[in-house]
Amino acid sequence: MRYDKKAIVEDQQRIDVGQTIRKGYLESTGAFRNLYKKEINLKNEADVNQFIQMLEKSVSINQTRTNGSISKDTKLNNIKLTYTKSNLKKGFIFWFKCNRCDRRVKHLYMPENSEELLCRNCHRLAYKKQNTKMDRIVTNLLKNPSLIDVYGRSNSLKQNLAALEASMLIENIRSGIISNIKKYNE
Ligand SMILES: [Zn+2]
Repeated sequence: MRYDKKAIVEDQQRIDVGQTIRKGYLESTGAFRNLYKKEINLKNEADVNQFIQMLEKSVSINQTRTNGSISKDTKLNNIKLTYTKSNLKKGFIFWFKCNRCDRRVKHLYMPENSEELLCRNCHRLAYKKQNTKMDRIVTNLLKNPSLIDVYGRSNSLKQNLAALEASMLIENIRSGIISNIKKYNE
């Protein structure tokens, strides 16, 4: 029996290391026995190492996203695993290592706006960074509306988008529709 690389399709946006290990354990005991000619003993550090290497090679994660009648699979993400020794009892605690920052985490996330399986921090930071930078440019334009034209004609896509956003905001204020403004002040 070969243990081929296969996709685990998850509808969830979050995966848990405990579930992944349990599922991997149930699915790979046979393959482990064939490969190493023994049963996996998760109290044995050498076995734990072989086991997580096997999972890293064989498991990849994506999501099937359905929009109306169209289903689309997101790209496959590898997982990285590691462990620490448990102080209380003889045993090991399993962790994911984030694909971007390498931090040890219990959960990995794939929010709807992304195909990357990363830790919570990496997803939030990426989101925050994009937003605050754009927000700053737009706020600056609202303070200096004469720049909107300049930005609108600039070669930078970021400046074009900021100009568009700022002029739409001003248009909304003029029309008396100010509810959109709220989200820029949050
Ligand atoms: Zn991370």
